[in-house]
Amino acid sequence: METSDQLNIPSTVSDPHYRYKMPKIHTAIQGTGNGIKTKWLNLPEVSKALKVPTEYPLKFIGRELGSNIEIKANSYLINGNHPIDKMQEILDKFIKKYVLCPKCKLPEIHGKIQVTKDKKGIKCKCRSCGAVSKLDSTHDFASYIQKHPPPYDKDNTPSSNTNEKEVKKTLDKNVRKAIKECCEKIPNVINLDIDINENCNLVKKLINEYNFPIDIKFYVLANGIFDQNLYTKAFEKKIPLIKFFIFNESDSKNEEALFFFLVGMSDFIFARKNEKCEQYVSSVLYYLYNYDILSEDFWKSVLEKKEQNKYKSLLFNQDINNKFLKSAEQFSEWIKNGPYEGEEENKNDEKNEENKEENKEEKNEENKEENKEEKKEDEDIDIDNI
Ligand SMILES: [Zn+2]
Repeated sequence: METSDQLNIPSTVSDPHYRYKMPKIHTAIQGTGNGIKTKWLNLPEVSKALKVPTEYPLKFIGRELGSNIEIKANSYLINGNHPIDKMQEILDKFIKKYVLCPKCKLPEIHGKIQVTKDKKGIKCKCRSCGAVSKLDSTHDFASYIQKHPPPYDKDNTPSSNTNEKEVKKTLDKNVRKAIKECCEKIPNVINLDIDINENCNLVKKLINEYNFPIDIKFYVLANGIFDQNLYTKAFEKKIPLIKFFIFNESDSKNEEALFFFLVGMSDFIFARKNEKCEQYVSSVLYYLYNYDILSEDFWKSVLEKKEQNKYKSLLFNQDINNKFLKSAEQFSEWIKNGPYEGEEENKNDEKNEENKEENKEEKNEENKEENKEEKKEDEDIDIDNI
């Protein structure tokens, strides 16, 4: 199936890179007059993409339109002449009610739909966010599901485990070698003493030699940028470099670039045994936030595992992601509670440096960089002061 023939699940999701896709509805009109019927040509493909029993979407649409349906040996018919747009609109309604997790809105409840014990409702357990929720039992179609529930998958293994096994199996040996090589070369090219644009271009030249796709590119960049001093002023000096790549090098895919930058950072800490940097994760995230690289909405989406589900990559590892999110708890709490007045002030002040004494001090400290004693003091950045 060509990509142009694919829609997001549901089709109202506008992100062109969304990972959940279904084929567009194809129909043919047959018969005339009172005998006119709409034949749904690709119902099995659509149902397969939605991971629901084949007849579900047809029965739902039939009920919504108040039209009889017929299922005859691989032929799926609805009485009347129904435009595809209308059918798609109803299909989206079906998806929102019985395919998406009510909590995280991802189509990850397949195989986890059950009739409640009192037989009056339908519930589901999400494979992605783990939420147990009730599905609409007031709609006509609910009684059909209660009588014909979809097969229940008793296997409790989360689907992410399969992905991890896949990673180990399929990340090509040569690609791994290239990643390692590039990660090792980047620190030698980063030079904070020369003009920042000049340096950005040198790093860009190096990375471009490898022709990596976006996920690997930003994974490699993070691994090359971070070092054991990721929490010192030296890291702050590298921020223009991060900004350059995320905003200039990724076109409209800034969020995907940032996501894989964070995947790279997680691996740097938890896969490459730099666990002592774990305590500075929140501090690094504050930096990215303060420099307008990471937004509140983006981080919330990461916490809800929406970003993780949006992109398919062999680099992503659920275990490491969990460790990373745990180490970012302080930052997450702050984001969840909304920026405090004081800290919001600090953010604005940074842009307006002349006004506050605090900032003058900070600036002085930066100027005295050569003074090694002061630099040592800077190493332990107090997160509250960022
Ligand atoms: Zn969910």
